[in-house]
Amino acid sequence: MISVEEASKTILMNFRKLGREKVAIIDALARVAGEDVYAAYDIPGAANSAMDGYAVRHRDTAGANRRNPVSLKIVEHIPAGHVPQKKIRRGEAARIMTGGLIPAGADAVIRQEDTKAAGTDVLVIAEIAAGKDIRFAGEDVQNGSLVISQGTFIKPAVIGMLAALGRTQISVYRRPRVAIIATGDELVAVTRKPPAGKIINSNSYALSAQVLACGGMPLMLGIARDRKKDLQRLFKSATASADLIISSGGVSVGDFDFVKTVMKEGGNSLHFWRVAMKPGKPLAFGEIEGVPVLGLPGNPVSTMVSFEQFVRPCLLKMQGHENLFRPLIKAVLMEEIRKKAGARHFIRAIVKKEKNKYFVSSTGGQGSGILSSMVLANALIVLAENATKVKKGSLVDVQLLAD
Ligand code: AMP
Ligand code: MG
Repeated sequence: MISVEEASKTILMNFRKLGREKVAIIDALARVAGEDVYAAYDIPGAANSAMDGYAVRHRDTAGANRRNPVSLKIVEHIPAGHVPQKKIRRGEAARIMTGGLIPAGADAVIRQEDTKAAGTDVLVIAEIAAGKDIRFAGEDVQNGSLVISQGTFIKPAVIGMLAALGRTQISVYRRPRVAIIATGDELVAVTRKPPAGKIINSNSYALSAQVLACGGMPLMLGIARDRKKDLQRLFKSATASADLIISSGGVSVGDFDFVKTVMKEGGNSLHFWRVAMKPGKPLAFGEIEGVPVLGLPGNPVSTMVSFEQFVRPCLLKMQGHENLFRPLIKAVLMEEIRKKAGARHFIRAIVKKEKNKYFVSSTGGQGSGILSSMVLANALIVLAENATKVKKGSLVDVQLLAD
């Protein structure tokens, strides 16, 4: 049996970034840039006004105040999107709206609040400095500069910037195709009412959702029966199109647990089986016809917790992400927890923040079939292998299940 660390390291070692593809910028959300993006022009393209007000020569406002306003003649109106036609000379101003281009001759904008209207003139009641309330050409982005570098996580601001740069597409790392196989004679499809002794295949749905949530593309391949031939057939069909195959169940020590057998036969390989953790001890990692396979345990909570620890980081790595792991925080434990030494425990939990401190309590029943406690959980308490009794009030490691 190997440790969680060792398992995680061994699994991740076997994965690389996938290839790249061009996508429409809006489809690049939450993906990773596969190219450097340079600006082909300045942003803003030309000096423009940051305020609604008047474009002026700043020297003309010298000494202006409420009692001694300076009167300037309005020679033009410049709404945003229009090109000014006149040069501002001494004693003149142009009415200008936010985004309007600064006319020749003007070197500052006086905001409307510092003026009074006076027919065809404007009364300036404050002195302003050169450059005031002007957005200069290239002050955001300079022509030729590197704006988005390869490896950047694409958040909404990046998409806005790509649009501002005139890009309709960007190269990003490909999304992994993840084949999902359920195993077990007891399973029926969600569309059927389970007869006596049968249960619905819920794992394939939980796993598909987990795959989607971290950017992968799930391919639900259905249910393999507890026969070697059936497993072989389904695994083989998965190798045609998947970057990674994940299965649930059939990986323990039962008489019908054939996933490991399939991984060991032919040209396939089984890198390891069993990890010192709870839930999720029976976990097999190997390859079938060159495609990596993670045989996850069957119990619904074990399946999901194992996915979190081992599959999600792989899928993120394949997509070029640098941050592969969920945030780990310290929280005050609100109850005493006892466990056996030997395995790392992941306890479904609810973490709350109060006055800058995190508090965590378990969701109750921790049986690996109790999916409802996974529904309640927003985090997992992580208890070290050698821990046996963790006191109420002690600080514990908590893995958040959202970023
Ligand atoms: P196994 O490791 O194959 O013995 O599976 C352990 C238990 O997990 C089974 O007894 C089922 O109760 C449950 N299980 C296995 N596969 C699924 C599935 N696809 N959906 C829901 N529960 C499952
Ligand atoms: Mg089974």
